[in-house]
Amino acid sequence: MDNILVLNAGSSSLKFAVFDLAVTDLRAGGIVQSLDSPEACFLMKTSAGGSRSCCLPGATIVEALEKIISEVSAESSLAAIGHRVVHGGEFFGGASRIDEASLGEIERCGRLAPLHNPRSVAVIREVLRQFPKTPQAAVFDTAFHQSLPPKAFHYAIPYDFYAKHRIRRYGFHGISHAYVGEQAARRLGLAFSDLNAITVHLGNGCSACAIRQGRSADTTMGLTPLEGLVMGNRSGDVDPAMHAFLAECENLSLRQVDEILNHKSGLLGLSGLSNDMRTLAAAEAAGNERARLAIDVFCHRLAKAVLSMGASLETIDALVFTGGIGENSPSVRERTLAQLGVLGVRCDPELNRSHGLGSQGRITTEDSAVPAFVIEANEELAIARETCRFLKPAPQIRLKSG
Ligand code: ADP
Repeated sequence: MDNILVLNAGSSSLKFAVFDLAVTDLRAGGIVQSLDSPEACFLMKTSAGGSRSCCLPGATIVEALEKIISEVSAESSLAAIGHRVVHGGEFFGGASRIDEASLGEIERCGRLAPLHNPRSVAVIREVLRQFPKTPQAAVFDTAFHQSLPPKAFHYAIPYDFYAKHRIRRYGFHGISHAYVGEQAARRLGLAFSDLNAITVHLGNGCSACAIRQGRSADTTMGLTPLEGLVMGNRSGDVDPAMHAFLAECENLSLRQVDEILNHKSGLLGLSGLSNDMRTLAAAEAAGNERARLAIDVFCHRLAKAVLSMGASLETIDALVFTGGIGENSPSVRERTLAQLGVLGVRCDPELNRSHGLGSQGRITTEDSAVPAFVIEANEELAIARETCRFLKPAPQIRLKSG
């Protein structure tokens, strides 16, 4: 039985999923988490209801890969392997088959994503070594946003910095924005290339995207995934002068300020409690004012960003919520929609509450000027589909005789 293996190398984990060749059936999935630490462990679930787990203390990403391969190739052969790669720079405007040339470009983009790309490269090289004949594809978080027009991707800083260092807005979560956009188009009976929508991916990282006729026209993340919305641990937008000011006030280096904005800010920083929306919702319900403040700031900034995405659209067919918070928090959706009255969006409280854990659908009233939907993120499925394209033989060109 042939399968497609999807690998997603994060900064401290290696996730995987196994699909059938038609990409209709998720056969297994799992994670090796807490890599490079004594707590590293392997977890796997199969579609048949089985589960396996074991400790892998101190496992490196390559050791994690070996464990995954030994588990998933024990029962089946791998027809192709797809990798999520965070940064494709300006070079990759779509998924790419992996060869030495494309791998070299992914390595060069590592300067822009030092926590992620080098780990993907390590995984890809090891897979190439073990399966030199199996097609491999790289699917990029940045690629969908390569359609951003210059007015949306340039920072207003001296142009030379773009020319010399490629400092510009790239955007991330592109695999997720494109996938939920396609799902929304299907629900509305539209071709994706006709869809105009705003999608918001709210997980640990959060971003919004303006999709204009099936292409990304603007997004909230920028040079790095720190820009834009308030996130679990990340501040999102701050006054750029804050870096120097904070460094001076607290006698910190710029690197330390960067660390605070990336890891100790966002929901965690504001609440002083947690980066997890579930914990904050429970604390707010119990009367914790800082938890309330953190959620209020999160929703306010999200609503502001949705309106700013509207500047890149002439019309809007749908607003889409996805990601762990977007899919599972009726309260965040309701509070955000309440600030979007100017768009004519009207939340249906009952429908909204009914789309809680794992259920998808419309959450606005019939007469809402714009329908809003909850759509489940499925980046692994999107990567598997893209990977399949590299399996198909090139179309035969028939020459007309005579
Ligand atoms: P990642 O970006 O790591 O893939 P997820 O998409 O899994 O993250 O989203 C994680 C976020 O989703 C966390 O803030 C978590 O609290 C939130 N979340 C998950 N389930 C719920 C829920 N039932 N209610 C509110 N928030 C939830």
